[in-house]
Amino acid sequence: MDEFDLIQRYFQPLSQQQTGVEAALSIGDDGAVVDIPAGQQLVITTDTLVGGVHFPAQAAPFDIGVKALAVNLSDLAAMGATPAWYTLSVTLPQYDSVWLRDFCAGLAWLADVRPVRLIGGDTTKGPLSINIQAMGLVKQGCALQRSGAQIGDDIYLSGCIGEAGVGLKLALGQINTPLDDGEYYLNRLHRPEPRVALGQALTGVAHACIDVSDGLFADVQHILQASGCGAVLNVDAIPIAQVLRDTEDCVRYGFDSTTLARQFANNAGDDYELCFTVAPQHADRIRAIAARYEVPITRIGRVTEQQGMRDDHGQPLLVQGYRHFV
Ligand code: ADP
Ligand code: MG
Repeated sequence: MDEFDLIQRYFQPLSQQQTGVEAALSIGDDGAVVDIPAGQQLVITTDTLVGGVHFPAQAAPFDIGVKALAVNLSDLAAMGATPAWYTLSVTLPQYDSVWLRDFCAGLAWLADVRPVRLIGGDTTKGPLSINIQAMGLVKQGCALQRSGAQIGDDIYLSGCIGEAGVGLKLALGQINTPLDDGEYYLNRLHRPEPRVALGQALTGVAHACIDVSDGLFADVQHILQASGCGAVLNVDAIPIAQVLRDTEDCVRYGFDSTTLARQFANNAGDDYELCFTVAPQHADRIRAIAARYEVPITRIGRVTEQQGMRDDHGQPLLVQGYRHFV
């Protein structure tokens, strides 16, 4: 099978996904062509997953497909954008029909629940690597940014953190005790479901927004640095994975105390929740959004004039997020 048959068989079907917007020209030409509806702006984001770095080379191809697309849709969600199109560049060590079939099934599964359409890409041979560029639409001037936080804003978090971190410990074999809900945590790691509807709902309400990919503390700090302010976090209020809350479970998971488990959750990455800031007078709008979209949303702190990140006793909070190149 040559490269063109491969594209036709595996990738072309993903360009048929029904979304709110068409593409004027899709897979098959030298470039894709899209129309931007009047009054809207295009939001563009890209993320690369490298085998052996972002996922074990032996990871299930279905999960790799889900995750490669999910991390990009999560970035669109953080911008308040509605996903529309994506491109896909894959580098494969060899042609493997089963791998490709399952990888594309993963992409199709997520594109079905968070509609987005494949419109082009590139296919090459080499060490396993996947790059996706996702494009979304947002009303003119309404994209959420990291830099918009204002002093006095409440800081909110969707869902809970540390679940993908527990999943990673399981995947790495760092937890030996079998778990009833191990599957749940592994799914939270391998198949994140980006908060797309929530992100859209937050446009015009939130002042600043970020998706939690590096770790909650690291990502709150990104907002604070971009906005030129500080924060007090109500650390005990931050919702963390159930197993990390329970003293007995904590020990089984290899933490010495619930304090250390909480520290782990605050700095674990890959949860793809949204963290955002909102003026206190809009608290009722946030409650309404939480109810309407059935997303747990918790107030975890407040934006302050004083720089840095502190707990509510004034103690500085440590950031221990994951970084490349350090
Ligand atoms: P060119 O040589 O002009 O760059 P390619 O041979 O790389 O074109 O690709 C042919 C067509 O197939 C293009 O429309 C391209 O966007 C599409 N394509 C190639 N690889 C992929 C992929 N992995 N996913 C989706 N579309 C792809
Ligand atoms: Mg060309």
